[in-house]
Amino acid sequence: MSVVQLPWDEKTKTLDMPVPSSEALLPDAQERLEQLATRIRQDIRTTSHHQDWIPRSENEGQPRVLDVLIIGGGQAGLGVAFSLQRERIDRVAVVDAGDDPRRVGPWHRYARMHTLRSPKRMKGIELDVPSLHIQRWFEACYGEEAWAKTDLVPRLDWNDYLVFYRWVTSIEVHHKSFVTAVHRPETADGPFAIDVQESGTAPSSVQTLYARRIVFALGLIGGGTAYTPDMIRSLPRSKWFHTEEEFDVSQCKGQRIAVLGGGASGFDNAGTALEAGASEAAVFMRRSTVPCNNPLRWMEFPGMQEHYFDLNDEQKVEFSLFNGGLPQPPTQHTIWRCFSYRSFQLRMAAEWVKVEDTGKELVIHTMDEHGTADTYHADMIIAATGYKVDLTLRPELKEFYADILTWRQAYPPSEGTAVAASPYLGSGFEFTPSHSQAPWISRLHHFSTGARTSMGVTGNQLSGIYGGLKRMAWSMATAITKENWPELMRQFRVFEHKEVMNVVYRFGGP
Ligand SMILES: Cc1cc2nc3c(=O)[nH]c(=O)nc-3n(C[C@H](O)[C@H](O)[C@H](O)COP(=O)(O)OP(=O)(O)OC[C@H]3O[C@@H](n4cnc5c(N)ncnc54)[C@H](O)[C@@H]3O)c2cc1C
Repeated sequence: MSVVQLPWDEKTKTLDMPVPSSEALLPDAQERLEQLATRIRQDIRTTSHHQDWIPRSENEGQPRVLDVLIIGGGQAGLGVAFSLQRERIDRVAVVDAGDDPRRVGPWHRYARMHTLRSPKRMKGIELDVPSLHIQRWFEACYGEEAWAKTDLVPRLDWNDYLVFYRWVTSIEVHHKSFVTAVHRPETADGPFAIDVQESGTAPSSVQTLYARRIVFALGLIGGGTAYTPDMIRSLPRSKWFHTEEEFDVSQCKGQRIAVLGGGASGFDNAGTALEAGASEAAVFMRRSTVPCNNPLRWMEFPGMQEHYFDLNDEQKVEFSLFNGGLPQPPTQHTIWRCFSYRSFQLRMAAEWVKVEDTGKELVIHTMDEHGTADTYHADMIIAATGYKVDLTLRPELKEFYADILTWRQAYPPSEGTAVAASPYLGSGFEFTPSHSQAPWISRLHHFSTGARTSMGVTGNQLSGIYGGLKRMAWSMATAITKENWPELMRQFRVFEHKEVMNVVYRFGGP
């Protein structure tokens, strides 16, 4: 039974087992997936807690209050929902602005690479259920040999796996559901009211949901927004995109594309533009070498993935500032993808100084480290310039900005550094109140990019998602136990479970 119902839910309902449409599927993939689904459900049942435990007191005529509302149904939101299911926290709903249940997160939208960047062998959103791991799904679809030969998981397979994961774990996502606002509770321990609007419709369709806890799993924009330099933002909107945006890549056909930013997304987007028929694509970077070293691979060990939180503030800031200055390299495939086109250019040590719009074309003025100027003529710009962490840019947090403790407040030496505006999170990704009048702040959990300083690699990305999910579910179950302890204790006092039915008293008992 659904925990909540939204008027537009019927429009995106999916009940059948999702089977990918790839030509590479084994002929018996459907049966193999059915067998796998049976196995997964058995495994989940075998290792599940057996009884509901959260005390309920329904008030007639009152709206149902969710234990947790998860905003965002990407890999992070789905993983959180499953981890809460494992703790038997059962009044959980996931809402996601996307309108197509076959597309999860960015993988069909703006993640324009052929494969994931994360290694295929990692603990992840399957948590403690091995049959739910991507490897088992991939093998069911394409065979064991195909998995052995696969270096990195293809991006669209990852999307299809997430669709299957959502289905097999019975996580119900309300699609087309865009959260526009979250309101403060009326009392210190009261529920939050959340405004949800059917995506793409007028605000008149807003519905209100109530939840005691909220997880913000909004993805890369979740800590603030996509960052685009002013010199690009001031150009006509039709002449530039940020890599975050979903745009029709066929617009690149016959065009000269200038990509600002030589990180992974810069190369991914140049490759996509060239594949779509761009006459030329140039990646520009300030550095004079392509980043080759991937710092994430160092971080993928239990100490970082599960225990980073326990470091002290000084150590966290030291790590975050050093790590923040390191670029994320493109994959080897992406480099080859770009260089397989003669019309690809890599312009290193080329800082953008100015962009001129002549009406006919864009003229990009660059400067190298010795002050030598150059120009490039383009028709369209793609800004691969990353993201900015600044919670005051998140509209759904508007009522809470002043109540959320930031690193600059919690640890004054961080003032003036790149981490100063990041939220100072508690052990379960919850915001910390900045003053005593907002105790409910710690029932809001931030599971996206703003979490990096407090949680390191433990979080929404695959490199540390396992540790993040365990941590968040554990901390919520702890808080729910404490909040309900008086009622749980009362239940214990009146509890009866007679296991002994027949006592034979040999020595003439009563
Ligand atoms: C090219 C590229 C390659 C990448 N490669 C990797 C990789 O290999 N490994 C990896 O771990 N990460 C990779 N990433 C990063 C990746 O985007 C994130 O790790 C991953 O998507 C995080 O999952 P998420 O659930 O936090 O966010 P997302 O998957 O982005 O999901 C967020 C969801 O929130 C929803 N949402 C946002 N705002 C609202 C709102 N107000 N109301 C309702 N719903 C809302 C969105 O519709 C979206 O579905 C890559 C990113 C890019 C762009």
